[in-house]
Amino acid sequence: MAHFFSDKAIENFKTVQTPFYYYNTELLKKTLQVATSEAKKYDYHIHYAVKANANQQILSIIREAGVGADCVSGGEIQAALKAGFSAEKIVFAGVGKADWEINLGLDENIFCFNAESIPELEVINELAAKKSKTAQIALRINPEVDAHTHHHITTGTKENKFGINLDQLDGVLNKLQTLASLKLIGIHFHIGSQLLETEPFFMLCKRTLEIQEQLAKRGISLENINFGGGLGIDYNDPDNHLIPDFKTYFEIFHKHFPVKSGQQVHFEPGRSIVGQCGALISKVLYVKEGSFKKFAVLDAGFTELIRPALYDAYHKIENLTSDEAEETYDVVGPICESSDCFGKALTLNKAHRGDIFALRSAGAYGEIMASQYNCRKLPEAYFI
Ligand SMILES: *Cc1c(COP(=O)(O)O)cnc(C)c1O
Repeated sequence: MAHFFSDKAIENFKTVQTPFYYYNTELLKKTLQVATSEAKKYDYHIHYAVKANANQQILSIIREAGVGADCVSGGEIQAALKAGFSAEKIVFAGVGKADWEINLGLDENIFCFNAESIPELEVINELAAKKSKTAQIALRINPEVDAHTHHHITTGTKENKFGINLDQLDGVLNKLQTLASLKLIGIHFHIGSQLLETEPFFMLCKRTLEIQEQLAKRGISLENINFGGGLGIDYNDPDNHLIPDFKTYFEIFHKHFPVKSGQQVHFEPGRSIVGQCGALISKVLYVKEGSFKKFAVLDAGFTELIRPALYDAYHKIENLTSDEAEETYDVVGPICESSDCFGKALTLNKAHRGDIFALRSAGAYGEIMASQYNCRKLPEAYFI
């Protein structure tokens, strides 16, 4: 199997100011090809979740694959439009949409607002009425399915701030009937992220069928069913699973959710599209001997990649410039916070000042979450 990093790429890394993001765009294109061809088997529609990575070059490649965009802010709608996504392929989700963001969506005639509460529906209705427009609405429903993922990235249980709870759905539908500038076109779910089991998706299908039946009793038929994102990636062994198993993923929905005629089914993958194609490249500043352990101190910190500090996330770390016998290190960054640690007691080829370390599987929720804490510069991005 071809290595993720060519020898030439590693030579180039030595000459460039670190830290920076490196994207393997060939892998991104292959991943998109697999995702879109598997979705096409069942006529499923894909909207890429822009929040995973909104780098303009990445967005352009994704747009070229023919998919739409799932946005969770006005800024993301602007980023998607700038990258050439057409407005009729943009959906807008989020629990806290500001008025200017709703107005932007209305002015651009985006496909759909995924709405989550009665007060939000009232505001979209009012703003749409002012423009003499009708806003297309999908209700984001909290299906009360536990995604069995980290509690910071599970979204579909009753305790979460996201979505309309099932016991409140009737009230929301009653309200919706009074809002003349809204048109209900479907329902939307997103149960969490980094899901590696199929069971929550199966449960989601089951729940969706129940909800569909409940709505049919009120004479509502749903044109659009949006199952959100959430398909996980292999952070432990990226090289053997560079492309997530989209085939099995879509098969679950095909098997357990029979599509009605005239109905469209949508998905919003983020991480599974971009996660494996990116790596954070960093240099070892110092190898520091502690009293009972060794630290490899990198020039990248949680300002460049916050996932380990934020969600205890694991990123595989490789020393690209050493093949000496392995030693054990805590790999840490330069930020003045104890949580600025990428991993403890990791086994790596012996490290020296100047070695190049790669933090793998950093294409999703990496660069886009970078901050300037400690007055640091935002990282550059380079492409194969
Ligand atoms: C974050 C998010 C996604 C993407 O989730 P992934 O786990 O990255 O696939 C999709 N839809 C919505 C509404 C989201 O908030």
